[in-house]
Amino acid sequence: MTGFVADAMLGKLVTYMRMAGHDVVYAPDEDAVGDEEVADLAEATGRTLLTRDTELARRADGLLVKSKDIEGQLRELAGSGVSLELDVPERCSACNGRLSEADDAADDVPDDIDRAWRCEDCGKTYWRGSHWDDVRETLEAL
Ligand SMILES: [Zn+2]
Repeated sequence: MTGFVADAMLGKLVTYMRMAGHDVVYAPDEDAVGDEEVADLAEATGRTLLTRDTELARRADGLLVKSKDIEGQLRELAGSGVSLELDVPERCSACNGRLSEADDAADDVPDDIDRAWRCEDCGKTYWRGSHWDDVRETLEAL
């Protein structure tokens, strides 16, 4: 799979998937709100649609996400063969930009952190701190 488009119902899932390195476009970020627009966005960008809408999933040949809670949603994706493992941060969870290692980020990160990454698009700095550990535990518990 080359990437995903997620509909407006799946904002939290988008964050988790990006942390696991997936290329995920959040439809509202592209002003795609209606079913048609979301389906068109997925098709135009060659991405797989993720949606909680049964009809839309069928029409756009997407992946239907049934669960309302994030752990259930992640479990469904894992069951569909989507790899959800945290390794090196690769994607900006805010904007889906690519991250590259930042050697000059010492001022931006806690003292006990020795590696950091920065988004090539929005400039946000990332490191593997307590939030990272929490998410990794959630994914490993699936
Ligand atoms: Zn970014």
